[in-house]
Formats: sequence, structure tokens, C-alpha cells
Amino acid sequence: MLVVVVGVVTLSLTANALLEQAVPPDQVATVRTAVIQALTIAALAATIAGLTTSILLVQVILRSLRSIARSSQRIAAGRYDERVIVPASDELRAVAESFNQMAEALEQIEQRRVAMIGNVAHELRTPLAGIEGYLEGLIDGVLPAEADTFLDMKQEVRRLRRLVDDLQTLSRVEAGQISLNFTTFDINEVIRRVVSQLQPQVLDGCLQVICERTDQPLLTRADPDRVAQILLNLLGNAVRYTPEGGCITVRSALVGEQVRVTVEDTGIGIAPEHLPYIFERFYRADPSRSRASGGSGIGLTIARHLAWAMGGDISAASAGLGKGSTFTLTLPRGTT
Ligand code: ADP
Repeated sequence: MLVVVVGVVTLSLTANALLEQAVPPDQVATVRTAVIQALTIAALAATIAGLTTSILLVQVILRSLRSIARSSQRIAAGRYDERVIVPASDELRAVAESFNQMAEALEQIEQRRVAMIGNVAHELRTPLAGIEGYLEGLIDGVLPAEADTFLDMKQEVRRLRRLVDDLQTLSRVEAGQISLNFTTFDINEVIRRVVSQLQPQVLDGCLQVICERTDQPLLTRADPDRVAQILLNLLGNAVRYTPEGGCITVRSALVGEQVRVTVEDTGIGIAPEHLPYIFERFYRADPSRSRASGGSGIGLTIARHLAWAMGGDISAASAGLGKGSTFTLTLPRGTT
């Protein structure tokens, strides 16, 4: 509107000046009337065209905004597959695309949540079915009410407890709620402690554990208890997945600004198609085997989150099935 007013005023001033110079004085009045009429018609046409364009534009914007508002309400009501149609105009396209990306992220979170509930239910079912079986056997008199039966039942209860404890740790570590006591300590000392803690299982499996490390203390800046928890998981897995007579080698070294601990075993190895997923919750390369050996399938997920929380990382490598595995933990080095 402002453009039209400014245009009309400028044109009439210019036309007036030209009229006085170029038109004989007796015709000025006639020509001026004609010019004013022409300008009025042009101004009206420009105003109508401008208004029509604005109304159309506002309607397009409003339609898109209404569609986004409707979609966000559907998403809020749990319809995570909802998406908006991406409009042609640049600005609205950017808004619609961002909205669709957000909806996609929400859908993935929801899918993971649903999968998590399914996994937890599945994991709980196994020990519960075991306990139920023992109880039924006892009630029917098929199983004797003896210490051995109760010890077997206790084993199932222990498995249940471990699963619940792991789930609690997982939820806290994923929410970043785990408290860490950072100190500078000798990681070789922690390795020694964890290896001696696992000695009974190592002897049971007729395994050999070799520790390759320097005699100097290897200073690390992290939480020693959490580092022990990670190493217990890595070494525990190595013991669990290495058949009798196998060998586990633990190496520790300073690499640049990082302390690196590798746990290498000569065990069953991991097939390449499973390798990228073994740090995911409840992922097992061989479900029957790891469940039978008491694994919850979330030990590595917890271990990796703990390593991340301490500024480190864990990675896995394996040449394939039957060719052993190597897990590498890196942590920031410590200084005195
Ligand atoms: P679990 O409690 O089942 O061992 P983890 O999260 O610790 O769960 O490990 C996930 C999966 O990774 C295991 O089920 C197993 O398939 C594989 N895995 C872990 N460590 C090893 C290893 N040292 N050798 C072979 N497979 C392993």
C-alpha cells in the first residue's frame, strides 16, 4: 500500500512539472484531469493486485502453519509416524523439513523404547520360567525339597537380580546420572586386582591369563571403581567366550595422551556381521550361548557408556568366528 501511495505522489509531481513545461497553458487543465484519471486507475489496479497477492501469500503460509500445528498435535497424541507435506517456498520448506526431522527422531526414540520394553520382558521371562518350573516340581513332588533344588532356584533368582541391577545401572548411565570419583591412579594395579578376582573362573576353564605391562605405574585419570567394572566385564566375557585351554592376554600401554588397555582372547570370536552391534543393548552374537552362561547382553553397553563418561572409549575387533576377539579400552592419561 505504501509503495502505491509513494508511486502515485511521485508520478503526479513529475507529471505536474512536465505539464507546465511541455503543454500550452490553455490545455493544462484538460491534460491534468486525464493524467489524474490515469493515475487513479493505475493506483487502484496496483492496490487490488497487491492485496490479492498478499492474501494468497498469507493463505499459503497459514495453511502450512496450520498443517504443522495439526501434525504436532497428532505427534503429541502418540502418532509418531506423522509427517507434514514439504511446501515449495524456501522458508516454509526449511520449517517443514526441520519439523519432519524432529518427528523422525521422536519416532526412532519411541521404537527404541518399545524394543527396550520387549527385550526386558523377554529377559525377565527366562529366569522367571525357571523359578516357576522349580516351584511346580516341588509342589507336584517331582523335585525333592532338598538343598540342591533350592540352590538351583537361588541361581535363577541371582540371575534375575543381576539383570535388574544391570538395568538400573544402564538407565542411570544412559541418563548421565552416574556419579564418578575422578582420581589419578595406576591402572596396572586395577588390572591386577580384576585378574585375581576372576582367578576361580580362569582356573575352572583351564585358561591362561597373561598380563603384558611395563613395571612403571601407568597413571590414568578416571574413576578406579568404574574402570574395574569395565575391565571385569571385558575379562569376564573373555573368560566366558574362550573354551578350555585358551589364552587371554591383557596389555596396557601409554599411547600419546591416552592409556590403552587391550583384552585379547583366543575364544569363539565374533562374526563380522555381528561386530558393529555388540555394544547395543541386549544384542548377543549367539543368544543361546550367552544367555546360558548368564549374560544379560547389556554389559558392553554399560561398559561403553562408562568409558565415554570418563572421556574414553571401547572398541572391539575380531578376525571372525573361532579366531578370538580383542577389546580395547582407552582412557585419558593421568599426571602426577
Ligand atoms: P553378555 O552379558 O551377553 O556377555 P555383553 O554386553 O557383555 O553381554 O556382550 C554382548 C555380546 O557380545 C555377547 O552376547 C557376545 O555375543 C559378544 N561378546 C562379548 N565379548 C565377547 C568375547 N570376548 N568373545 C566373543 N563374543 C563376545
